[in-house]
Amino acid sequence: MLALQGDVREHFHALAECGAEAVNVRRESELAAVDALVLPGGESTAISKLLEVFGLLEPLRQRLREGMPAFGSCAGMILLASEVLDTRPDAQSLSGIDMTVRRNAFGRQVDSFEADLDFAGLDDGPVRAVFIRAPWVERAGDGVEVLARVPAGPAEGRIVAVRQGNVLATSFHPEVTGDLRVHRMFVESVLTPADR
Ligand code: GLN
Repeated sequence: MLALQGDVREHFHALAECGAEAVNVRRESELAAVDALVLPGGESTAISKLLEVFGLLEPLRQRLREGMPAFGSCAGMILLASEVLDTRPDAQSLSGIDMTVRRNAFGRQVDSFEADLDFAGLDDGPVRAVFIRAPWVERAGDGVEVLARVPAGPAEGRIVAVRQGNVLATSFHPEVTGDLRVHRMFVESVLTPADR
């Protein structure tokens, strides 16, 4: 659990509920000790800065290159992108997923909203998604699976959940709703790595 800034506690609880042993990662030795990493929602530019300050940026890029499973929600999705639009010029990205993400994409008028999403691989009903100053995926690369899109409204069809190999990202915050299915999907992918 990357614990530099953001809604770390909510992810912690969700992971614990799924039976995963979650620990805080703030330094390189802690990163080296985990099997997988969750990047929380929060403020991507602040987390990016702190990754540099804590000397985690390159070690984290390296672990992702080596195939460490990861899950990012909202700011975490932004950090996992290979390209970010509408961010600060000095913000760093981790290139865990071949995608272009637009930050704060839903606009100022709609700071936050909720929607019920069809989520590929989760067949037992829609996922209630909470979006808070959320990004969307503007371009998903060839190897990227699209798992969910906005179902209706002005942003209809926009991509809000993706997976490449065992790196998962959502524009929204599954950690705040009590619906554990997305976290379970991630934990299961860590336990049974996809052959990709
Ligand atoms: N808008 C935030 C950012 O740019 C993300 C918001 C969130 O994580 N809820 O990082």
